[in-house]
Parts: sequence; structure tokens; C-alpha cells
Amino acid sequence: MGRGRFKIPFMSKRVPAAGLPALKISRRGAGRLHKGHVWVYRSDIVSVDGIPPGALVNVSDERGRFLGTAFYSSTSQIAIRMLSSEAVNDLGSLLGKRIETAIAYREGVVEDTNAYRVVFSEADFLPGLIVDRYNDVLALQVLTQAMDAEPVRTRVISELSEQLKPASIIERVDPRIRELEQLPSRASSVIRGERSSTVFSMNGVNFNFDGVEGQKTGAFLDQRENYAAAAKHARGEALDVFCYQGGFALHLAKRCSKVTGVDSSRSALETAERNAILNGHEIEWIEANAFDLLRDYADSGRRYDTIILDPPAFAKSRRTLDTAVRGYKELNLRALKMLRSGGTLVTCSCSYHLSEAELLEVITQSGLDAGKNLRLVERRAQAKDHPILMNVPETAYLKCLILIVTN
Ligand code: SAH
Repeated sequence: MGRGRFKIPFMSKRVPAAGLPALKISRRGAGRLHKGHVWVYRSDIVSVDGIPPGALVNVSDERGRFLGTAFYSSTSQIAIRMLSSEAVNDLGSLLGKRIETAIAYREGVVEDTNAYRVVFSEADFLPGLIVDRYNDVLALQVLTQAMDAEPVRTRVISELSEQLKPASIIERVDPRIRELEQLPSRASSVIRGERSSTVFSMNGVNFNFDGVEGQKTGAFLDQRENYAAAAKHARGEALDVFCYQGGFALHLAKRCSKVTGVDSSRSALETAERNAILNGHEIEWIEANAFDLLRDYADSGRRYDTIILDPPAFAKSRRTLDTAVRGYKELNLRALKMLRSGGTLVTCSCSYHLSEAELLEVITQSGLDAGKNLRLVERRAQAKDHPILMNVPETAYLKCLILIVTN
């Protein structure tokens, strides 16, 4: 036996829970788990006969050694998501404890808000479950067969009710995910209580939330700490590109003389305007393709003191990285050209596949091409209620750089 095999103490003595289906994984799959990752891909599954979709399974290596307990998906490329490196004899109470731990962690790290992510899937050892709190409303999202299956689903909902006592719980459905997991289609709905709407606040700014009625709204809670940081450096005339419902724009409005938000989604801008009214700010909203608008504005010599770039994930996979890099380059180049001396650029990427080093490289090149010298003031990431696991690199995805033009 190699030394590496003793990484999990007493591994050979651990006994799987009785009554669960057994699933064998390849050497490569076991290697991933030994390195602390929690996913095993379908190509690393050795035997899966008769295991029902969404089952809790005992995972072992090819030689039959027990590696832990996982949730199985019959359709996802991520065939198993580890729940524990030990036997799970009482799944319900394990789920309850994990939710309790997730809540306790937020109590220590979340500040100045009543809206934050309470449970972030693998990062809280509850794979396939996302729970966001918006003031007194909880928004739950189920991403896998296992989290949708009974008794897991009902137990999760009742633990959340008991532990957080929300006025209501809504389920937000992403039809694409349900299709991928081959789960029956379902609409977003209120599953406990009555109300689907509320007003929440972050850093003293108020936002409307409605998870069910009309256009579904929710916030990019992962940017919450970055909003406050951006506001600290912002001044003068500001442009918030890819503004969605105005997360950055509303934070800038307190400090800037004029704020313009740009997005291609009309319904997002309608909510953004309602949010501006809620806070008593006047903000200009422009419905446009950001690439076209930035080109036109840069060519016509517009100037700003603060520009925010928070595009959707351009690199959905490693394969599309080249195209994504060109997209980030174009946006950053045009934004930098428009920044006045001393101006601030807040530039983000939520593509996991684009590393921080690669984004820094894009910005360096954009600065050179735009003839701007840049000082890197802050290198930021997702808010702390979106935990990062060192052994699961996919949990670190958001980059937010704050730079100042020094010439
Ligand atoms: N900054 C926002 C989140 C942005 S999410 C916040 O903090 O809340 C990305 C946004 O980009 C979405 O609102 C989407 O409608 C918008 N979008 C996507 N492609 C676009 C394009 N080509 N031009 C303008 N907006 C676009």
C-alpha cells in the first residue's frame, strides 16, 4: 500500500452504511477524492448497475475499499457528488447539521445586509442545494436529482423553516437544470408561507425582491462586498456596464454626480428603475448591447470618472476561453479609453475558466493598448457567504479588480 492511501485516517476500518446501493469508481476517480475533491465524473464510474437516479450511495474503489457516501445522478456528467468520507446512517440529521453549520458560518462573516447566500452547494457540503436569504424570504434552488428526491427535499425545507423561521420559502426553478437532470418540469412557486416578495438591503441600499411574480428577480449576492468596495473608490460621472437590476449603480449613486446603467435586458432595467426610486436616486438606464454602446461611446470621445464592467460568464468552458478573452479585452480596452486621469475601473469576471492571472494579463494588455498606466488597488473575489474550498477549485469563480488610471 502506498503512503497516499493513509490520507483518510483508518480508511480501511471504516464500514459503509447498510442498505445503500454500492458504486465503484476507477483509480483516477479515487485519486480525485484522495486529493479532497468531491466530484467523480461518469467516465470514472466502474459499476452502477441498478442504482436509481438521485440515490445515496456507498462509494468504493476498484478493490472494494470504502471511500465515502455520495449522491448519485443518472444524467449529469458529474455522476457522484460526495456528501461524506464516512458512512451515512442518518441522512436527515446530517442534512440538519450541515444547514446549521452553514447558518453559523454566515453569522460570523456576513455584515451590513439581510440578504446573503445561506447554503452554497458543495462549498457547504450540501451538493446540489442553493439557499439565498432575502430579508424574511428564503429562495431555494435544487440542482440535482438527489436534492429533489424525497425524503431529502422535505427534510431540507423543514430544517430551513425551523432553523431560520422565514416568513416564506420560495423555490426558484431553472428549467435548463431540471431538464439536464431529467427532473419533471415545475414552475417557481411559494412552497411555505404566502409572500414571494420583500425588500432587502445591502450596505444601506434597498432592493425589491420577487422570486415568483412577473419577471423573476434575485440579486447577485456574490458581488455584495464588491459593491461597497467599488463605491469607496467611485466619484464623478459613472457608467455601470451590465448593470442588471442596478447593484453597482445604486451603490455608486450616493457618491457620484451622475450614474448611467447599461444592460440588454429591459425587464432587468425596469426593476433597476424601481430600485432607484426606492432609494430616492436618479439614475439613467440604457437598454443596449454593451459592446455596441462602448464602441460608439469610446469613438465619440465620451469620458467617465468611474466605469464598472460586470459581464456574464463569457468562458463557459476551457474550449471557449480564447473567444472569451477577446470579449474581455474589447470591453476593458474601450472602458479604459474612456476613463479620465485618476479614474477608476472596476472590472469583473465570473468565469471560473478564466483565472485571475489571465484576467490580470487581459487588463495589462488593454492598459498598454489604451495608453493608460494602471495602479491595481484591490484584487477581490466573491463575498464570503459564497465559500471557497481549497480542494475544489470550481468554488472560486468571481474576480473583481479595482484599478486607477494614473496618467
Ligand atoms: N452587475 C450586475 C450583474 C450582471 S449579470 C449586478 O451586480 O447585479 C450580467 C448582465 O449582463 C445581465 O443583466 C444581462 O442581461 C446582461 N447582458 C448580457 N449580455 C449583454 C450584452 N451583450 N449587452 C448588455 N448587457 C448584457
